[in-house]
Amino acid sequence: MAVDKVITNTSIVTMGPAKNVIKKGFVAIDGNKIVDVDCITKFKKPPSAKIRIEAKGMVTLPGLINTHVHLYQNFLKGMQGASSLVEWCDKGLFPFVRIMKDPKFKKLGIGYHASLMACLEMIKSGTTCCAAFDFDPGVPKAIEESRMRAIFMPFLADQWAPKDLLLEREKRLKETELLLEKWHDPESRIRCMVALAAPFICSDELMLEAKKIADKFGVGLAMHILETQYEARVASETYGKKVLEHLEEIKLLNEKFLAIHCVWVDDNDIQIMKEHDVKVSHNPESNMRLASGVAPVPKMLSKGLTVGLATDGAASNDNLDMFEAMRAALMLHRVTTLDPSIISPQKVLEMATIDAAKTLGLDREIGSIEIGKNADLTIVDMRKPHLQPVWDLVSNLVLCANGADVDTVIVDGEILMKRRKLTRLNESDVMSKSLEIMKRIEICKGV
Ligand SMILES: [Zn+2]
Repeated sequence: MAVDKVITNTSIVTMGPAKNVIKKGFVAIDGNKIVDVDCITKFKKPPSAKIRIEAKGMVTLPGLINTHVHLYQNFLKGMQGASSLVEWCDKGLFPFVRIMKDPKFKKLGIGYHASLMACLEMIKSGTTCCAAFDFDPGVPKAIEESRMRAIFMPFLADQWAPKDLLLEREKRLKETELLLEKWHDPESRIRCMVALAAPFICSDELMLEAKKIADKFGVGLAMHILETQYEARVASETYGKKVLEHLEEIKLLNEKFLAIHCVWVDDNDIQIMKEHDVKVSHNPESNMRLASGVAPVPKMLSKGLTVGLATDGAASNDNLDMFEAMRAALMLHRVTTLDPSIISPQKVLEMATIDAAKTLGLDREIGSIEIGKNADLTIVDMRKPHLQPVWDLVSNLVLCANGADVDTVIVDGEILMKRRKLTRLNESDVMSKSLEIMKRIEICKGV
C-alpha cells in the first residue's frame, strides 16, 4: 500500500539514540508520522508513495528547533547597533512595544505581521518548531497560519518596565489564562507554556500566580535567567541571595522549567538547576550582540544539564537562522575555553534537534528521525561549492551550511516549503504587507 510521501536517495542524519547517519536512504511518511527510515539496498526499497521527493545530493535531518525567540521583534532587526540589555530595552524595545499598543496603530496588527515574517524566515532556514516568548495575540494566529510547530509562551511582567507598558497584574494573569485556554492543545502543533519576563521584572506574587496557571494546564514555566550581570546584582539587592536560590526557595523550579540564557550562573547555580532537572535555552548570538557574556554551556553539559539552542528575537540577534546559531555556539565555546575539543559539531546539532526537543518536553514526538515520531524534517541541498567536499556530514552541516541551503521543509507530515517555494504562506504578500506597516509606523529608514 502506498504511503503519503517518501523522501528518496537522501543521506539521513537521524539524531536517534544510535546517532547514525544513513547514506542513500529513504524516509517514508504517512499522515503526520514517520513510518519507515532505512538504507536503500537491493533487499529494501522505498515504498510507493503519492508524493515522491527526490533528494539525491541532499541530506535529511530532523527539523531544527529554536528554543527561544520573540516573534513580535521581527521588525527590529538591525536596530540599536551598540547597546547593552538595559539601554536596548529603553531605546529600542520599549518604544516599539508602545507603538504596538498605541490605539492609532493597533489595527495594523503589528505583532501578527511581524510574526508571519518571522515564520517565513524560520521555515526558509529549516526551523520547524519554535518556542515563541511573546505577548501579542497575533503571534499564535500567525504561527497557526504558517503551519509551523510551536510552543507559544505568553509572558508576564509586573515591575521594572515603564508603567504605561505594564498591565495591572490580575488583568495580565487573566489574559494569560485565556490565551492558554485558546491555544494550548496537547494534540495539535501549537502548545503553550507560561513565561515570566525575568526575576527582576516579576514580583514573587506574580511568579507564584504564574506557577498556578502552569500547573492548572500541566505545562512548564519559562524565564530569562541571569542574562546579564545587572540581573545578578539586582537579585542580590532584592532577595539578599542569588536568583536561583530564591527561585528554589519559592518552589518555582522543576523539570518543566526552561531557564533562558543562564549567562551568569556559577557552580552552585548549576547544581541547583541539576537537582531540579531545570532545562536551559542557550542563545549565543544574542549574548554576543548585547555583550551580555558567555554562558558556561560546556560546564552545564558536563554536569548533565539538557541545553537547547536558540536565536533569541530579531531585536538582539537580527536573524533567526539556526544554522548560524549552531556555528556560533561551536565557535564561541571553543575560543572562550581555548579548547577545540570542548564542543563538537555533533553536540551542537543535538542542541538544535533532540536536546532542544527535550527542553520543551517534545522529545517523544520530534527531534529525531525515528519510526513513530512526527514527520518534522528539513532537507538541505549539499550540491553547492561552499558545502563541498563533505569530510563529515554533520561537521559540514554545522560548519559550512546556512539557512539558504535548505531545500524542503516538512512539518507534521505537511510540506511547508518545496524547492524553496513556500506552500502555505505567500512570501511576497507577507513581505509587502510587512514593509507597508513599517512605512506607516516610520521607525526604520528602509533600503
Ligand atoms: Zn529573550
